[in-house]
Amino acid sequence: MIIKTTAIALRLHPYSRTSRVVTWLTPDYGRIVTVIKGACRAKSAFLGQYDLAMRCELLFYRREHGGVHIARECSPLAYRPHLRTDWRGAVAAGYLCELVNRVSVPMLAAPEAFALLDQTLDALDSGAAPIPVILRFEFALLESLGLAPDFAPCADCTITSGNRPCRFLLPAGRLRCFHSRGHQPDGSSVAIDETGLAALRAWQQPETEELEHHPPTSATAETTTMVRRFLGMFLQCHLDMPMTARQAAFAWLEAQPETKHECDETQAG
Ligand SMILES: [Zn+2]
Repeated sequence: MIIKTTAIALRLHPYSRTSRVVTWLTPDYGRIVTVIKGACRAKSAFLGQYDLAMRCELLFYRREHGGVHIARECSPLAYRPHLRTDWRGAVAAGYLCELVNRVSVPMLAAPEAFALLDQTLDALDSGAAPIPVILRFEFALLESLGLAPDFAPCADCTITSGNRPCRFLLPAGRLRCFHSRGHQPDGSSVAIDETGLAALRAWQQPETEELEHHPPTSATAETTTMVRRFLGMFLQCHLDMPMTARQAAFAWLEAQPETKHECDETQAG
C-alpha cells in the first residue's frame, strides 16, 4: 500500500554505502521509519529533498512487518533555511527532533505533537531565541502527552498562609507537604519557593499567543535557569530517557559565542 503524508525528518542514519534510514514524525501515522534507497547516489531523485527538521511531502510503501517502510518520493514543503546556517537554531532543532523521536510512537496518530513541532521549528527558523523556544516546547509537549506538571498549591497543606513546607514531588507531578502520604525523602522531590513557582507557572502558560515561543514578560536570567533545571529533572522522571541530548544542547547554547570574538580580535590585531 502506498501512503502519502506530510512528515518532519527527525533523524537521519546511513544504512548502506548508498542508502539512508530516515525517521519521520507524521500527523496520521506518528513516528515512521523509512529506507531511502540510493539516497547518496549522485543522481538520486532524493538529493536535497529532505534534511533534519524539514517538513516534506512523503510517499512511502507501507510494510506491515518489520516496521521499516520504503520511501518512494519526497519533496520539501518547508526548507527552513535559517536552520542550515545558524548553529544555535540548528542545535535547538536537533534536540527537539530527538526529544520527539523518543516520545512518539510508531503508527499512532500524533496530530498535536506534529503541529507543535512544526510551529516550533518555524519559530526557530524565523530567528526566535533557542533557549526560550526549547523551554516553551517542553512544557507544551508534556501537556500534549498528558504529563503536564501541576503547580497548583499543595492540597494537603494545613498551613494556609506564609511559608508552606511543601516540596514538588517529581513522580506525583505536584506540590506536596513533607507530612503527606506517599512523600519520599529521597531525591524525587524539589524545594521551590514562591518566586520559582510563579516563574514555572508563567513559562507553562504563555500569557498571549505571541509569547508562545518567547520568554514570559516576567522572566529573569535566574528564574530561567531554575525553570531549565526543573524541567530537566521532570523530563528525566516522566519520560524515562537519558538527558544527554538535552544537556549537550544547553551546554552549546549557553557557551559564549567565542568564534566571533576570536575573529574580531584577530582583525583588531
Ligand atoms: Zn503542603
